[in-house]
Amino acid sequence: MRRKYIYGPVPSRRLGLSLGIDVIPYKVCSFNCIYCQLGHTTNLTTKLNEYTPVEDILKDVLDFLKKDGKADHLTLGGSGEPTLNSRIDYIIDTLKKMSKIPVTVLTNGSLLFIEKVRRAISRSDIVLPTFSSVNQDTFVKIHRPYPTLKIEQIIKGLCDFRREFPGRIWLEIMLIKDINTTPEEIEGLRKVIKKIKPDRIHLNTVVRPPSEEYARPITIDELQKIKEFIGEGCEVIARFKKKGKTRYLEDTKNTILGMIRRRPVTLDDILDALIIHRNEALKYLDELIAEKKIQIAEHGNKKYYEAVEG
Ligand code: SF4
Repeated sequence: MRRKYIYGPVPSRRLGLSLGIDVIPYKVCSFNCIYCQLGHTTNLTTKLNEYTPVEDILKDVLDFLKKDGKADHLTLGGSGEPTLNSRIDYIIDTLKKMSKIPVTVLTNGSLLFIEKVRRAISRSDIVLPTFSSVNQDTFVKIHRPYPTLKIEQIIKGLCDFRREFPGRIWLEIMLIKDINTTPEEIEGLRKVIKKIKPDRIHLNTVVRPPSEEYARPITIDELQKIKEFIGEGCEVIARFKKKGKTRYLEDTKNTILGMIRRRPVTLDDILDALIIHRNEALKYLDELIAEKKIQIAEHGNKKYYEAVEG
Protein backbone atom coordinates (compact mmCIF):
# COMPACT_ATOMS: atom_id res chain seq x y z
CA MET A 1 0.00 0.00 0.00
CA ARG A 2 1.35 3.41 -0.96
CA ARG A 3 2.13 5.61 2.00
CA LYS A 4 0.33 8.88 1.50
CA TYR A 5 1.90 11.16 4.08
CA ILE A 6 5.57 10.26 3.98
CA TYR A 7 8.21 10.23 1.25
CA GLY A 8 11.77 9.04 1.02
CA PRO A 9 13.97 8.69 2.88
CA VAL A 10 15.78 11.08 0.54
CA PRO A 11 19.42 12.15 0.79
CA SER A 12 19.55 15.73 2.00
CA ARG A 13 22.62 17.92 2.22
CA ARG A 14 21.63 19.23 5.62
CA LEU A 15 19.96 16.20 7.17
CA GLY A 16 21.60 13.10 5.70
CA LEU A 17 18.93 10.50 4.97
CA SER A 18 15.69 12.31 5.71
CA LEU A 19 12.21 10.80 5.89
CA GLY A 20 9.81 13.56 4.78
CA ILE A 21 6.52 13.68 6.70
CA ASP A 22 3.71 15.82 5.25
CA VAL A 23 1.71 17.15 8.17
CA ILE A 24 -0.12 19.72 6.08
CA PRO A 25 -1.86 19.41 2.70
CA TYR A 26 -0.28 20.65 -0.51
CA LYS A 27 0.29 24.42 -0.49
CA VAL A 28 -1.55 25.29 2.70
CA CYS A 29 0.86 27.94 3.86
CA SER A 30 1.17 31.31 5.60
CA PHE A 31 3.51 32.43 2.79
CA ASN A 32 3.35 32.39 -1.01
CA CYS A 33 7.08 32.70 -1.68
CA ILE A 34 8.25 33.85 -5.09
CA TYR A 35 10.93 31.13 -4.99
CA CYS A 36 8.64 28.27 -3.88
CA GLN A 37 9.39 25.14 -5.89
CA LEU A 38 5.86 23.84 -5.34
CA GLY A 39 4.16 26.68 -7.20
CA HIS A 40 1.54 29.08 -5.85
CA THR A 41 -0.01 28.73 -2.41
CA THR A 42 -3.63 27.67 -2.78
CA ASN A 43 -4.68 28.27 0.85
CA LEU A 44 -2.90 31.32 2.30
CA THR A 45 -3.69 31.19 5.99
CA THR A 46 -2.47 31.56 9.57
CA LYS A 47 -5.32 29.48 11.01
CA LEU A 48 -4.11 26.51 13.09
CA ASN A 49 -6.09 23.39 12.32
CA GLU A 50 -5.75 19.61 11.99
CA TYR A 51 -5.64 19.93 8.22
CA THR A 52 -4.33 16.38 7.77
CA PRO A 53 -5.60 13.48 9.92
CA VAL A 54 -2.84 12.98 12.45
CA GLU A 55 -3.46 9.27 13.10
CA ASP A 56 -3.13 8.56 9.36
CA ILE A 57 0.21 10.38 9.25
CA LEU A 58 1.47 8.40 12.23
CA LYS A 59 0.27 5.10 10.71
CA ASP A 60 2.42 5.78 7.64
CA VAL A 61 5.47 6.52 9.79
CA LEU A 62 4.92 3.43 11.93
CA ASP A 63 4.66 1.31 8.79
CA PHE A 64 7.95 2.79 7.56
CA LEU A 65 9.67 2.17 10.90
CA LYS A 66 8.52 -1.46 10.97
CA LYS A 67 9.48 -2.29 7.38
CA ASP A 68 12.41 -0.05 6.44
CA GLY A 69 13.19 2.03 9.47
CA LYS A 70 16.49 3.55 8.32
CA ALA A 71 16.69 7.34 8.35
CA ASP A 72 18.89 9.97 9.96
CA HIS A 73 15.99 12.34 10.56
CA LEU A 74 12.20 12.29 10.66
CA THR A 75 11.44 15.62 9.03
CA LEU A 76 8.15 17.47 9.37
CA GLY A 77 7.55 19.81 6.46
CA GLY A 78 6.97 19.05 2.82
CA SER A 79 4.12 20.66 0.99
CA GLY A 80 3.17 23.63 3.16
CA GLU A 81 3.85 25.19 6.57
CA PRO A 82 3.91 22.37 9.16
CA THR A 83 3.31 24.60 12.21
CA LEU A 84 -0.20 25.26 10.87
CA ASN A 85 -1.10 21.73 11.98
CA SER A 86 -2.73 22.34 15.37
CA ARG A 87 -1.67 18.85 16.59
CA ILE A 88 1.99 19.05 15.67
CA ASP A 89 2.87 18.74 19.39
CA TYR A 90 1.13 15.35 19.53
CA ILE A 91 2.79 14.26 16.26
CA ILE A 92 6.26 15.10 17.60
CA ASP A 93 5.63 13.44 20.98
CA THR A 94 4.40 10.27 19.27
CA LEU A 95 7.32 10.17 16.83
CA LYS A 96 9.72 10.49 19.77
CA LYS A 97 8.01 7.52 21.45
CA MET A 98 8.08 5.46 18.24
CA SER A 99 11.81 5.71 17.58
CA LYS A 100 15.11 7.26 18.57
CA ILE A 101 15.55 8.98 15.19
CA PRO A 102 15.85 12.77 15.71
CA VAL A 103 12.75 14.75 14.79
CA THR A 104 13.31 17.92 12.77
CA VAL A 105 10.91 20.65 11.70
CA LEU A 106 11.28 22.66 8.49
CA THR A 107 9.37 25.90 9.04
CA ASN A 108 9.06 29.34 7.50
CA GLY A 109 9.16 30.69 11.08
CA SER A 110 6.14 32.93 10.54
CA LEU A 111 4.08 31.58 13.45
CA LEU A 112 6.77 31.47 16.13
CA PHE A 113 5.33 34.62 17.66
CA ILE A 114 2.49 32.34 18.89
CA GLU A 115 3.47 30.77 22.21
CA LYS A 116 1.48 27.57 21.53
CA VAL A 117 3.42 27.04 18.28
CA ARG A 118 6.78 27.62 20.00
CA ARG A 119 5.88 25.19 22.78
CA ALA A 120 4.70 22.59 20.26
CA ILE A 121 7.85 22.47 18.16
CA SER A 122 10.13 22.76 21.20
CA ARG A 123 9.56 19.02 21.54
CA SER A 124 11.66 18.37 18.42
CA ASP A 125 15.44 18.03 18.18
CA ILE A 126 16.27 20.45 15.39
CA VAL A 127 14.27 23.32 13.93
CA LEU A 128 15.18 24.78 10.54
CA PRO A 129 13.47 28.14 10.08
CA THR A 130 13.80 30.26 6.95
CA PHE A 131 14.65 33.93 7.15
CA SER A 132 15.28 36.40 4.35
CA SER A 133 15.02 40.06 5.33
CA VAL A 134 14.62 42.45 8.23
CA ASN A 135 12.63 44.94 6.10
CA GLN A 136 8.87 44.60 5.87
CA ASP A 137 8.79 45.68 2.18
CA THR A 138 11.43 43.14 1.16
CA PHE A 139 9.82 40.48 3.34
CA VAL A 140 6.47 41.06 1.58
CA LYS A 141 8.12 41.08 -1.86
CA ILE A 142 9.77 37.70 -1.24
CA HIS A 143 7.19 35.81 0.79
CA ARG A 144 3.85 37.48 -0.13
CA PRO A 145 2.71 36.51 3.39
CA TYR A 146 -0.74 36.37 4.93
CA PRO A 147 -1.57 40.09 5.16
CA THR A 148 -1.39 40.44 8.95
CA LEU A 149 2.14 39.01 9.27
CA LYS A 150 4.84 41.51 10.20
CA ILE A 151 8.57 40.90 10.10
CA GLU A 152 9.24 42.51 13.54
CA GLN A 153 6.79 40.04 15.05
CA ILE A 154 8.53 37.13 13.30
CA ILE A 155 12.00 38.27 14.45
CA LYS A 156 10.74 38.51 18.03
CA GLY A 157 9.22 35.03 17.70
CA LEU A 158 12.57 33.64 16.50
CA CYS A 159 14.43 35.31 19.41
CA ASP A 160 11.89 34.05 21.97
CA PHE A 161 12.08 30.58 20.48
CA ARG A 162 15.88 30.60 20.78
CA ARG A 163 15.62 31.44 24.48
CA GLU A 164 13.07 28.69 25.15
CA PHE A 165 14.25 25.87 22.87
CA PRO A 166 16.98 23.55 24.21
CA GLY A 167 17.53 21.91 20.81
CA ARG A 168 19.39 23.13 17.76
CA ILE A 169 18.31 25.90 15.38
CA TRP A 170 19.69 25.87 11.86
CA LEU A 171 18.60 29.10 10.22
CA GLU A 172 18.27 29.09 6.44
CA ILE A 173 18.81 32.41 4.69
CA MET A 174 17.24 32.47 1.22
CA LEU A 175 19.05 34.95 -1.04
CA ILE A 176 17.42 36.25 -4.20
CA LYS A 177 19.29 38.27 -6.78
CA ASP A 178 18.60 42.02 -6.62
CA ILE A 179 15.91 41.60 -3.98
CA ASN A 180 17.61 40.91 -0.64
CA THR A 181 21.27 41.00 -1.60
CA THR A 182 22.13 44.72 -1.33
CA PRO A 183 24.80 45.63 1.29
CA GLU A 184 22.05 47.18 3.49
CA GLU A 185 19.98 44.00 3.37
CA ILE A 186 22.96 41.77 4.20
CA GLU A 187 24.07 44.05 7.06
CA GLY A 188 20.49 43.96 8.43
CA LEU A 189 20.49 40.17 8.25
CA ARG A 190 23.84 39.94 10.02
CA LYS A 191 22.62 42.09 12.93
CA VAL A 192 19.42 40.11 13.42
CA ILE A 193 21.19 36.74 13.07
CA LYS A 194 23.40 37.80 16.01
CA LYS A 195 20.26 38.39 18.06
CA ILE A 196 18.61 35.10 17.06
CA LYS A 197 21.81 33.15 17.83
CA PRO A 198 21.16 30.07 15.68
CA ASP A 199 23.51 27.10 16.00
CA ARG A 200 24.12 27.14 12.27
CA ILE A 201 23.41 29.56 9.42
CA HIS A 202 22.71 28.01 6.03
CA LEU A 203 22.94 30.23 2.95
CA ASN A 204 20.77 29.22 0.05
CA THR A 205 19.59 30.70 -3.23
CA VAL A 206 17.09 29.87 -5.96
CA VAL A 207 18.45 26.59 -7.36
CA ARG A 208 15.12 24.93 -8.17
CA PRO A 209 12.42 26.18 -10.56
CA PRO A 210 10.74 29.03 -8.68
CA SER A 211 7.10 30.00 -8.54
CA GLU A 212 8.03 33.27 -10.28
CA GLU A 213 10.56 33.55 -13.11
CA TYR A 214 11.94 36.80 -11.70
CA ALA A 215 13.19 35.03 -8.55
CA ARG A 216 16.80 34.54 -9.68
CA PRO A 217 19.79 32.93 -7.94
CA ILE A 218 22.99 34.68 -6.92
CA THR A 219 26.32 33.12 -7.85
CA ILE A 220 28.44 30.82 -5.73
CA ASP A 221 31.05 33.61 -5.45
CA GLU A 222 28.43 36.01 -4.11
CA LEU A 223 27.28 33.38 -1.63
CA GLN A 224 30.86 32.83 -0.47
CA LYS A 225 31.36 36.58 0.09
CA ILE A 226 28.16 36.78 2.16
CA LYS A 227 29.29 33.73 4.12
CA GLU A 228 32.60 35.45 4.99
CA PHE A 229 30.74 38.63 5.96
CA ILE A 230 28.27 36.86 8.26
CA GLY A 231 31.09 34.84 9.82
CA GLU A 232 31.12 32.01 12.31
CA GLY A 233 28.61 29.18 11.95
CA CYS A 234 27.72 30.19 8.40
CA GLU A 235 27.88 27.78 5.46
CA VAL A 236 26.66 27.68 1.87
CA ILE A 237 24.15 24.89 1.25
CA ALA A 238 23.01 25.77 -2.29
CA ARG A 239 23.89 23.02 -4.76
CA PHE A 240 25.09 24.44 -8.04
CA LYS A 241 26.32 23.15 -11.31
CA LYS A 242 27.88 25.34 -13.98
CA LYS A 243 25.70 28.29 -15.01
CA GLY A 244 23.82 28.24 -11.73
CA LYS A 245 21.53 25.26 -12.26
CA THR A 246 21.46 22.20 -10.03
CA ARG A 247 22.44 18.93 -11.62
CA TYR A 248 19.88 17.19 -9.45
CA LEU A 249 17.10 19.34 -10.85
CA GLU A 250 17.94 18.79 -14.52
CA ASP A 251 18.72 15.11 -13.98
CA THR A 252 15.40 14.39 -12.30
CA LYS A 253 13.33 16.08 -14.99
CA ASN A 254 15.31 14.37 -17.75
CA THR A 255 15.01 11.01 -15.98
CA ILE A 256 11.22 11.39 -15.89
CA LEU A 257 11.17 12.35 -19.58
CA GLY A 258 13.38 9.35 -20.39
CA MET A 259 11.01 7.00 -18.56
CA ILE A 260 8.00 8.39 -20.41
CA ARG A 261 9.77 8.15 -23.78
CA ARG A 262 10.38 4.44 -23.17
CA ARG A 263 6.71 3.72 -22.39
CA PRO A 264 3.62 5.52 -21.03
CA VAL A 265 3.74 5.65 -17.22
CA THR A 266 1.45 6.61 -14.36
CA LEU A 267 2.40 9.00 -11.55
CA ASP A 268 2.74 5.99 -9.25
CA ASP A 269 5.21 4.36 -11.68
CA ILE A 270 7.37 7.49 -11.46
CA LEU A 271 7.16 7.63 -7.66
CA ASP A 272 8.08 3.95 -7.43
CA ALA A 273 11.13 4.44 -9.63
CA LEU A 274 12.45 7.72 -8.21
CA ILE A 275 12.80 8.77 -4.62
CA ILE A 276 11.08 12.12 -4.95
CA HIS A 277 8.05 13.79 -3.46
CA ARG A 278 4.74 13.46 -5.28
CA ASN A 279 4.46 17.25 -5.62
CA GLU A 280 7.94 17.54 -7.04
CA ALA A 281 7.10 14.88 -9.66
CA LEU A 282 3.86 16.72 -10.52
CA LYS A 283 5.73 19.96 -10.99
CA TYR A 284 8.17 18.36 -13.47
CA LEU A 285 5.25 16.68 -15.28
CA ASP A 286 3.47 20.05 -15.56
CA GLU A 287 6.61 21.60 -17.00
CA LEU A 288 7.03 18.79 -19.54
CA ILE A 289 3.37 19.15 -20.58
CA ALA A 290 3.83 22.94 -20.96
CA GLU A 291 6.94 22.27 -23.09
CA LYS A 292 4.76 19.93 -25.22
CA LYS A 293 7.17 17.04 -24.65
CA ILE A 294 4.57 14.83 -22.99
CA GLN A 295 0.79 14.58 -22.79
CA ILE A 296 -1.84 12.88 -20.66
CA ALA A 297 -3.83 9.90 -21.92
CA GLU A 298 -6.55 7.89 -20.16
CA HIS A 299 -6.44 4.10 -20.41
CA GLY A 300 -8.85 1.92 -18.41
CA ASN A 301 -9.68 4.72 -15.93
CA LYS A 302 -6.01 5.35 -15.29
CA LYS A 303 -4.10 8.49 -16.15
CA TYR A 304 -0.90 7.90 -18.12
CA TYR A 305 1.84 10.27 -19.21
CA GLU A 306 3.06 9.57 -22.74
CA ALA A 307 5.62 11.17 -25.04
CA VAL A 308 4.48 13.58 -27.75
CA GLU A 309 5.54 12.23 -31.14
CA GLY A 310 7.92 14.08 -33.41
S1 SF4 B 1 8.70 27.95 0.15
FE1 SF4 B 1 7.78 27.07 1.99
S2 SF4 B 1 7.05 28.83 3.08
FE2 SF4 B 1 7.36 29.52 1.02
S3 SF4 B 1 5.37 29.23 -0.01
FE3 SF4 B 1 6.58 27.38 -0.38
S4 SF4 B 1 5.93 25.99 1.22
FE4 SF4 B 1 5.31 28.05 1.89
